[in-house]
Amino acid sequence: MKRALITGITGQDGSYLADFLLQKGYRVFGLTRKLNRASASDKITLLKGDLLDQNSLINVLEEAKPDEIYNLGAHSFVQTSWNHSVLTAELTAMSVTKIIDAALKVCPKSRFYQASSSELFGKVQSGPQNEETRFYPRSPYGVAKLYGHWITVNFRESFGYHASSGIMFNHESPRRGLEYVTRKISHTAALIKNGLAKELRLGNIEGRRDWGFAGDYVEAMWLMLQQEKADDYVVATGETHSVKDFLDLAFARVDLDWKEFVKTDEKLYRPIEVSHLVGDYSKAKRVLGWTPKVDFKNLVFMMVDHDMEVARKLKSEASK
Ligand code: GDP
Repeated sequence: MKRALITGITGQDGSYLADFLLQKGYRVFGLTRKLNRASASDKITLLKGDLLDQNSLINVLEEAKPDEIYNLGAHSFVQTSWNHSVLTAELTAMSVTKIIDAALKVCPKSRFYQASSSELFGKVQSGPQNEETRFYPRSPYGVAKLYGHWITVNFRESFGYHASSGIMFNHESPRRGLEYVTRKISHTAALIKNGLAKELRLGNIEGRRDWGFAGDYVEAMWLMLQQEKADDYVVATGETHSVKDFLDLAFARVDLDWKEFVKTDEKLYRPIEVSHLVGDYSKAKRVLGWTPKVDFKNLVFMMVDHDMEVARKLKSEASK
């Protein structure tokens, strides 16, 4: 039985990846700061540790003895990374060195996955972006992820460590946190439809992203670690859509017109934005045999349908 350690196990990707690996017959360990996490499945063994504390990582690796390490833990919300830029650097950047360095000592034969991000590209002039595109991060989060990416490449090239970096474009799901624009829209549209909210406050709705389904993306992570040679891969859908496109589909799904409910809020604008993000995943397709399965429309519908269930439950509880 293969053993995997996931950092960021309680996040969206951690939960999909854990499900995926359990299905493949892995023994799954999750790094957590608090052991009494009720949300994680009882099939996952939670180990107490902190990405900021390298000693705890050494202990966790000694206990888990992982064949594969998936480093998904990070301060991952772009918007708040401006307010928490030091914590973002320590958690999203420095922790990558801490865990790889610990892995080289404890389990040098393990394979390592680093969750990199399309935020590395930031201010792009041209699209679509691939592994050769110049990086130009545009937020403290993006800058921290850039460090994480390069230290992964560096440890691979310096020590021959099997470390891969997945430059993943935005990926969403019903398990996405409510602070991200996609889930904020699907959730609020469902609340409005059920009479539980009156408006939706948003920032820049012209923003464009390449949005895929998180469940598809965790398979790409796993595929990277099954290759003989570690490498870096862009994981994306190759399509770009605006926040407006998301609004159109989400509100259409519940037969409403978003223009009646959306209010623009200056406070939700960012100091600077990344530009036209759209990924070229041809290398992942060619080498890993990976392609996205859920398209944009079905992703939006999946999220809205899930949130309609959530809203209906909230409504029936409120009327009790
Ligand atoms: P990320 O920044 O790409 O990681 O993903 P987000 O979901 O946080 O933001 C995607 C885009 O939606 C960005 O261009 C934001 O400026 C835009 N956006 C507009 N209104 C909001 C909002 O209320 N919340 C968030 N999170 N993003 C918003």
